[in-house]
Amino acid sequence: MSNYQPPTCWICGDQANTSEHRIKKADLVRSYGRGPYKGSLAPVHVRNGLVTAIQGPRAAVVKYSPSLCGPCNSTRTQAYDLAYDRFVSWVLENEETVLYKRFINFADVYGADFEESQRNLFKYFVKSFGCRLVDAGTPIPADLVALLPEKSFCTALKLTFCVNEDILLLPQVTRSVFLGKGALIAWASKDAPSIHTGYTWNEHVSWLTMNYWYSQPSEGYMGSTWIADGQYLYLGSIQPLSSEERAAFLEKIHDDVET
Ligand SMILES: [Zn+2]
Repeated sequence: MSNYQPPTCWICGDQANTSEHRIKKADLVRSYGRGPYKGSLAPVHVRNGLVTAIQGPRAAVVKYSPSLCGPCNSTRTQAYDLAYDRFVSWVLENEETVLYKRFINFADVYGADFEESQRNLFKYFVKSFGCRLVDAGTPIPADLVALLPEKSFCTALKLTFCVNEDILLLPQVTRSVFLGKGALIAWASKDAPSIHTGYTWNEHVSWLTMNYWYSQPSEGYMGSTWIADGQYLYLGSIQPLSSEERAAFLEKIHDDVET
């Protein structure tokens, strides 16, 4: 194919030769250990209804197609990755308190330098969202690329965080390994369905659901909006299962515990 264009890094425009993990490696290691993963307790990756066993945290199935150059996937974004790892570890370690209070104070997570760290956390979510958009073949909105080197910025991306109450029904050991991503949804007007006017998406680690709203109004019950501009995250609450599904779910958990 003579017209083959090598993929370009969506952050800097250089040739893209590395892939971001669909499910973050640190989340996999935190939940399942370093691998290799075998047996019935091994993690599986469910995508478009297809279940694939994951062999280890570097398994190709958990990666997107290449969309970043080496430096943009490592040194340039390392502080973002570290801020995210610290955030998720802290939330899971302080799960009981967080679930009782239903808010997160970044000063508790990061200490006195929380301002820079919460900004890096937001930039981690921008990186994750950008890689998801590229994977869907969607152009990256310019404001997302432009904000990465900045200390203050305007963006159409908002995040909200909520508790998935149905995941909370699972025993702690089971729910702590529940990682995943929701469907990326593009919004458009009925008159021009091919022109995307906004996107929504979500990712979750255990009960903690992280919701992305790009140029779309957020749902108030899914948490207060945050754009790297606040010390506190106020958590929303979702119950995705219907009452029938929840009853069946609880029965299944009960059976699993019995056997
Ligand atoms: Zn790059």
